[in-house]
Amino acid sequence: MEIKVIKDIMGANEQIAQKNRQLFDRHKVFVVNVMASPGAGKTSLILETIRRLKGKVKVGVVEGDISSSLDAEAISKEDVPVVQINTGGECHLDANMTSTALGSLPLEDIELLLIENVGNLVCPAEFKLGEDRRVLVSSTPEGDDKPFKYPLMFHEADVVLINKIDLLPYLKFDVDAFAKTIKGINQKAKIFPLSCTTGEGVDQWVDWLLGQVRG
Ligand code: MG
Ligand code: ZN
Repeated sequence: MEIKVIKDIMGANEQIAQKNRQLFDRHKVFVVNVMASPGAGKTSLILETIRRLKGKVKVGVVEGDISSSLDAEAISKEDVPVVQINTGGECHLDANMTSTALGSLPLEDIELLLIENVGNLVCPAEFKLGEDRRVLVSSTPEGDDKPFKYPLMFHEADVVLINKIDLLPYLKFDVDAFAKTIKGINQKAKIFPLSCTTGEGVDQWVDWLLGQVRG
């Protein structure tokens, strides 16, 4: 008997991700998959990014959480279209859940779609959603050893945002060593240290993102 359950799941996900991709292309939507552990600051980052892009790019948001609509409620105050996906226990978004959410978004009025994945440094990296770029938010209180412990996530990221740099005086976190470790896993990764609390470094990230959207 042949057992290839995992392969079939991944294959099915890949097919749906490609369909999402075609839909995004048709509506000229640039899509960013935002991944991180719980509490790293994904929602804060999305809020700060939306505020800086006002009047420049039309943004939409998909919020992925196991439960609740707290993050979508926070985002909706910024007056952008937002949809909450509750995964009901699943610890990552997959292409099918994303596809379901897209029906509730005015894609023709969105130029940049930010998808906040479920807080988890493991399986979100394995499920493509149809995105253009993958962003990993890694915050300083989590420690500078995370690339060693979750190499796939760091390998898959186009950008790593080192969030909460305002806390560096209180932590043993070596930014240079952290960046060096990331480059050892993923040479092409862009790295931006920033703080969503003080705003330091956020403009640099948003400028880069704007360049990607317009490019
Ligand atoms: Mg969140
Ligand atoms: Zn998972």
